[in-house]
Amino acid sequence: LSESGQPPAQFTNPETPGYVGFANLPNQVHRKSVKKGFEFTLMVVGESGLGKSTLINSLFLTDLYPERIIPGAADKIERTVQIEASTVEIEERGVKLRLTVVDTPGYGDAINCRDCFKTIISYIDEQFERYLHDESGLNRRHIIDNRVHCCFYFISPFGHGLKPLDVEFMKAIHNKVNIVPVIAKADTLSLKERERLKKRILDEIEEHGIKIYHLPDAESDEDEDFKEQTRLLKASIPFCVVGSNQLIEAKGKKVRGRLYPWVTTFHTHMQDLQEVTQDLHYENFRSERLKRGTRLNCSVLLFQLRRMQEMIARMQAQMQMQMQSGEGDSSGHHV
Ligand code: GDP
Repeated sequence: LSESGQPPAQFTNPETPGYVGFANLPNQVHRKSVKKGFEFTLMVVGESGLGKSTLINSLFLTDLYPERIIPGAADKIERTVQIEASTVEIEERGVKLRLTVVDTPGYGDAINCRDCFKTIISYIDEQFERYLHDESGLNRRHIIDNRVHCCFYFISPFGHGLKPLDVEFMKAIHNKVNIVPVIAKADTLSLKERERLKKRILDEIEEHGIKIYHLPDAESDEDEDFKEQTRLLKASIPFCVVGSNQLIEAKGKKVRGRLYPWVTTFHTHMQDLQEVTQDLHYENFRSERLKRGTRLNCSVLLFQLRRMQEMIARMQAQMQMQMQSGEGDSSGHHV
């Protein structure tokens, strides 16, 4: 976001040279994804009212939630977190993206938030489980990848850093999903306030040992612009976000107000988010799951062994009884 609050046109207008969308990925990545298309799942988590749906709608220039009913305060007390997944297919210059946005309305509303953690964690695990199941099935070529590749975690701009809920939640999911912390409604903060809050959040993330997603450095053979973009992006974490559903006019074209450079640049990092999901989070899940599977198998074996021992003991006892009764029946009516 520029200081004037307006995004530079090249970041919002696909016709402008310098526009960075997912069609502008480095060539190698581009070719692969043209063939296959991308599947990407983004989860958004944060307290109600922080602008999650507005941001999602403005990011993807579509109203994903045209009919959502906003709950009143009384409803909120009772509410538990819900999981709402919406999928859109976007095509940009021949590159297909199947994007699923998973929203978690109701997060943080309930007095006891433990349950909302559970719902979200179960959702993430279920997607891993489904992938594991499909991967071990026969039709491995056409697996739909619904694993959560990234979680935008919305932090309030009005607090003085992370709340205990933020810390607890991020720690509960950091081994399962790539967390990208974002400061919501950053337009309500001055530049100085933004910097102060960012620093505070980063310090707290370190202090609590929260593992957030780290953007990879640009490869040394990338062009200078890309390297600079990556460097700037890395230095901007946690990102400041501003959502708007208002269409504004830019150079005679209607664009959604207040889009910002990191969003488009972020597209170029989807591949890395997918790789980290596959190589780290999914692998963790898989090995844990297999270990659990082995433990399960072991206990089944032990159980069966015990049953066999019992059976043998019973048979021995029966044989002994038969032998004894045979001996006692020596008067001889053998069958
Ligand atoms: P959600 O509950 O997190 O999905 O929040 P909403 O997207 O429904 O937004 C709640 C309110 O905040 C609405 O009135 C929005 O217009 C407003 N809002 C959303 N994003 C922003 C933003 O970036 N800046 C400001 N100032 N207001 C915003």
